[in-house]
Amino acid sequence: MSRVLIVEDEDAIAEIEKDYLELSGFEVVIKSDGTSGLATALEEEFDIMILDVMLPGVDGYEICKQVREKKNTPIIMVSAKKEDIDKIRGLGVGADDYMTKPFSPSELVARVKAHLARYERLVSSAKEANDIIEIRGLKIDKTARRVFVNGEEKVFTTKEFDLLTFLAEHPNHVFTKDELFKEIWDMDSIGDIATVTVHIKKIREKIEYDTSKPQYIETIWGVGYRFKV
Ligand code: CA
Repeated sequence: MSRVLIVEDEDAIAEIEKDYLELSGFEVVIKSDGTSGLATALEEEFDIMILDVMLPGVDGYEICKQVREKKNTPIIMVSAKKEDIDKIRGLGVGADDYMTKPFSPSELVARVKAHLARYERLVSSAKEANDIIEIRGLKIDKTARRVFVNGEEKVFTTKEFDLLTFLAEHPNHVFTKDELFKEIWDMDSIGDIATVTVHIKKIREKIEYDTSKPQYIETIWGVGYRFKV
């Protein structure tokens, strides 16, 4: 069940909002002043927050600003004054939406649902974006820069990691040592391309079951290397 925080000092409005949201299946917490609203917003987990602008204690702008420094929870700001809405836009406090009072409670529910759906899409796409290359028993977590072989983590140096990742990202493509050196060491090929050979050897020792019969990085004699899939 999604949790909604309402910070609103007009009890009648807060109650109507709560009734409508509860009818739509939300769990609602109401705080009627800015100070307790801010504390609750920071301490507890909510899926969305509805903040009134004019509040006793801390105002809605300040709550929004402080929450935004710590959380990405969607925030809808509401105010009776049209000028406040302009100010919310102008201040860039990080609100996701704003509504002018009076508004219909069903309009509020519709917006709450829309923001929750949008936020969920955002969060799930961020999860998918966790860059992982998985080929047979080899798992390269690009985000965390970690390598696992059959579930066991192997320690990689920066260049070993870069070289393995580059090859794995271009499967079946044959690269010369010269090309790999330029790509990973980011220098002109005047450098020592034997470095590539040494690094390939070290990588194989970590990822291959039998380094004399590599499953992943294949040597193409007289040319270079290829990542097999
Ligand atoms: Ca108010």
